[in-house]
Amino acid sequence: MDTLFISDLHLDAGEPAAGAQFVDFLATRAGNAAALYILGDLFEAWVGDDDREPYRDRICDALASLAERGVACYVMHGNRDFLLRSGFAIRSGVRLIDDPIIIDLYGEQVLLTHGDALCVADRPYQLLRGVVRSARWQRRFLHLPLGLRRGLAEQARQGSQRHTRRTASQIMDVDQAAVSAAMRACAVRTLIHGHTHRPAVHRFEFDGRPARRIVLGAWHECGSVLVWGPDGFRLEELPRGTAQHCA
Ligand code: MN
Repeated sequence: MDTLFISDLHLDAGEPAAGAQFVDFLATRAGNAAALYILGDLFEAWVGDDDREPYRDRICDALASLAERGVACYVMHGNRDFLLRSGFAIRSGVRLIDDPIIIDLYGEQVLLTHGDALCVADRPYQLLRGVVRSARWQRRFLHLPLGLRRGLAEQARQGSQRHTRRTASQIMDVDQAAVSAAMRACAVRTLIHGHTHRPAVHRFEFDGRPARRIVLGAWHECGSVLVWGPDGFRLEELPRGTAQHCA
């Protein structure tokens, strides 16, 4: 059976097509998988597990149905949904996993990460990341009223879009030295990440031996999945059907 990896779905009630495709994916492809890994940014924003917007509940219910079928689902935080907590995990039947994490994939040790921590050239982003990933900041944020948290998240999203427009694309890509350093520290030759929305398989060498970095695609225009079985892997684009709505 295959193990599936996806990331960067950026699910949002205002953009229902990706959510509809994801719900369909969970009921079909993922239902026959050995396990599903979601490597961050499942949601466009997540301001706390107490946000029970019906759209979010539908996504959680679809994940819970997958769990009921016996498929293990692992969710990693992304830079947009790093406030996912146990309340989300319990009602979705998923397990939250650390970023980064090493897993055994058909006998090979593979490093999984969302990818934003490897974009070290983007100094303003890394400074912001250091603040919002601190326990102190998160505790204070989660104590704010829900409406205020939603407003602040929307402001942050707009700020992030402005930053993305202003910043050169190579600055927002992962840094090769950081990639090699992370892989060396974890003694792995394969890295899987998302975040950059540039699906590809990069083959390179470090310390005189071959290595590879597999980048997952975003779900903005169509779906994207890395399918890994006992005989190897492939990156697949998942075409999106005619107008669907997340029911
Ligand atoms: Mn991201």
